[in-house]
Amino acid sequence: MPDRIYFDHSATTPVDPRVAFSMKLVNLETFGNPSSLHFEGRQARELVERARGQVAELLRASSREIVFTASGTEADNLALLGVFCRGSDKTPGHMITSAIEHPAIIETCRSLEQNGIQVTYLGVDEYGLVDPDDLGRAFRPNTRLVSIMAANNVVGTLQPIGELARMTKERGALFHTDAVQYAGKLALDVTQVPLDMVSMSAHKLHGPKGIGALYVRRGLQLQPLVFGGGQEHGLRSATENVAGIVGFGKAAQLAATNMADDAARLAQLRYRILEGLQEALPQAYLIGHPSKRLPGHLCLGFSGQEGESIRLLLSLDQAGVAISSGSACSAHKASEPSYVLLAMGFDPIRARGTLRVTLGRFNTAVEVDRFLEILPQAVNALRPVASYAGFVHR
Ligand code: PLP
Repeated sequence: MPDRIYFDHSATTPVDPRVAFSMKLVNLETFGNPSSLHFEGRQARELVERARGQVAELLRASSREIVFTASGTEADNLALLGVFCRGSDKTPGHMITSAIEHPAIIETCRSLEQNGIQVTYLGVDEYGLVDPDDLGRAFRPNTRLVSIMAANNVVGTLQPIGELARMTKERGALFHTDAVQYAGKLALDVTQVPLDMVSMSAHKLHGPKGIGALYVRRGLQLQPLVFGGGQEHGLRSATENVAGIVGFGKAAQLAATNMADDAARLAQLRYRILEGLQEALPQAYLIGHPSKRLPGHLCLGFSGQEGESIRLLLSLDQAGVAISSGSACSAHKASEPSYVLLAMGFDPIRARGTLRVTLGRFNTAVEVDRFLEILPQAVNALRPVASYAGFVHR
């Protein structure tokens, strides 16, 4: 399908050919078990440890602080359950998160609640931002953990992670951030920001699916979720996914090397789409923060056509453009309003009608221009435009 345009990088990214090549070599040549003592095993171990260093470098962490998991979801689960399932403290603990976290956090919180842990879900403003004052007010004497995502998957808004983490440390609790959408796109430096745990996932940064990682600050003790042979410093037993880990390492290295250039280029393409839409579709408006957002992330609404996002998505798909109507994780609930947009104050009708356009490393200005021809045609074909709200940032 050579002419298709892929604008759904928040759902997943195409594997970079250099990543695929590194994995191919592992699959064909380095089949050893990294725990084995013989040459084949040592060879595999060397590759795993090199990749651990590459992933650590993305956060300026030390490689000892990286635990490989099978996904971003597992990294999130390990962070939350690992804190609360550890120790013999019988007083019910408390944690703070936001109402717009990914289900990997929200559903883990629900499970914690069923086990007696108290959870506060912070609201967000119209841009999807957590207010640090709200966080300050939410602390209780038994607050053990705060988990706030670095960047939201639906609307692309970036949270003030540095400030939130520093407030949390001052109050003696642990701070975790789900950086699955953020890592590899913008800089994150654990030597500057007091983060205790950071979740990442390779398939969001042009790496393979089924491999994630949790950064765990040195000295922090967690309860494992998976027991067995004691791999990954005892935190994640199972024979390592060597090819996946090597692919993650390569993807992290490429992301770190090109980060500033990639971010600038994607932001330019994003502005090009916004400017183009301003002229062609005055009923289009941007959702999420106008500037505090992921470089290649656009969440769009269309005044007067809120109920039409699924039809629009399908008609764009037919025209050769892959975009999403929100988070891919909720595709099976596509007709339900997004809980992220509801938390941002959207009414249920508007919360149902959004398009998520997310750009990646291999997208070009030619594709953007083609999209700017296709999208207005697709929107205007749905039905005559009834109302024009003008192009506003909401
Ligand atoms: N957290 C966020 C913010 C995400 O966007 C996603 C995936 O979309 C995940 C966690 C889950 O990551 P994975 O697909 O690797 O399980």
